[in-house]
Amino acid sequence: MIPGAFAYHRPKSVKDAVALLAELGEDARPLAGGHSLIPMMKLRLAAPAHLVDLAGVSDLRGIRVDGGDIVIGAMTTQHELIADATLAAKLPILRETALLIADPQVRYVGTLGGNVANGDPGNDMPAVMLCLGASYHVAGKSGERKIAARDFYEGAYMTALEPGEMVTAIRIPVPPAGHGAAYEKLKRKVGDYATAAAAVILTMSGGRVATCSIGLTNVAETPLWAEAAAKIAVGSALDAVTVKTAAAAAEAIAAPASDNRGPAAYRKKMAGVMTARALARAKARSA
Ligand SMILES: Cc1cc2nc3c(=O)[nH]c(=O)nc-3n(C[C@H](O)[C@H](O)[C@H](O)COP(=O)(O)OP(=O)(O)OC[C@H]3O[C@@H](n4cnc5c(N)ncnc54)[C@H](O)[C@@H]3O)c2cc1C
Repeated sequence: MIPGAFAYHRPKSVKDAVALLAELGEDARPLAGGHSLIPMMKLRLAAPAHLVDLAGVSDLRGIRVDGGDIVIGAMTTQHELIADATLAAKLPILRETALLIADPQVRYVGTLGGNVANGDPGNDMPAVMLCLGASYHVAGKSGERKIAARDFYEGAYMTALEPGEMVTAIRIPVPPAGHGAAYEKLKRKVGDYATAAAAVILTMSGGRVATCSIGLTNVAETPLWAEAAAKIAVGSALDAVTVKTAAAAAEAIAAPASDNRGPAAYRKKMAGVMTARALARAKARSA
């Protein structure tokens, strides 16, 4: 219950943070809100010798519109996502998802950057980022690069980040006005991680689905982009048969483990159920 000893560093800029991470190497970890990392350290599942606290780096905060994209600083808290008027208007799925994470106490300090960089398949934002086609701005000692969220997750707690790299911002293409969006999360109780969850973004034209994207949370070692399921929905009026077929396609790629949220077969089935519900709700919300 008490973490191992560590040295604490508090850089003031991205440049200094990157320099520290490069110098300290694999013994160092960025610290954001600490609501995944500190519990892991208390359980001794993580024992970094150095914590590089990003809280003093003001450049990592804020939400801005950049052409057709919204760019969100990695240290923007989940609470700030909920409170932001631009996001509520242009990307309502972020607010809906953030409201389903933990409880206000966690959301006041837990950050979007920490949630997407953590690599825990139970985190809710990664599947939403796959669904939205987001990319992550990354800084490291060799400079800056962008990684598509769909290429970022390699396994449980394994991501495409190289040692010493950190996520500085999340870039999200704004879906067309009138799009429908939904995040459906099955959890045992308020504040719990997902037994299974599904994110859907779609547009309708003439009563038929014109575009559709689906992401799945906590039903595999990584978040999943359910491309085949979304393709089934496109061109249809989302009639009952199509929704059932798309849900089955989502289930087919789910490979959850049995855990205290239920046996694997149940969680796999729930991936389909959440997909069907999210498709229906996204359609109902589209203009
Ligand atoms: C009781 C409880 C319930 C929770 N329930 C949920 C839930 O339902 N859904 C959910 O999604 N989350 C849940 N969480 C986790 C919470 O959302 C965390 O805040 C989030 O996962 C991590 O964000 P953080 O800012 O706290 O990151 P930290 O804990 O500080 O960091 C997490 C990991 O990411 C790394 N990291 C952080 N920032 C960066 C960066 N900018 N670049 C590179 N690496 C970085 C750290 O080194 C660490 O390895 C819960 C947490 C608690 C305590």
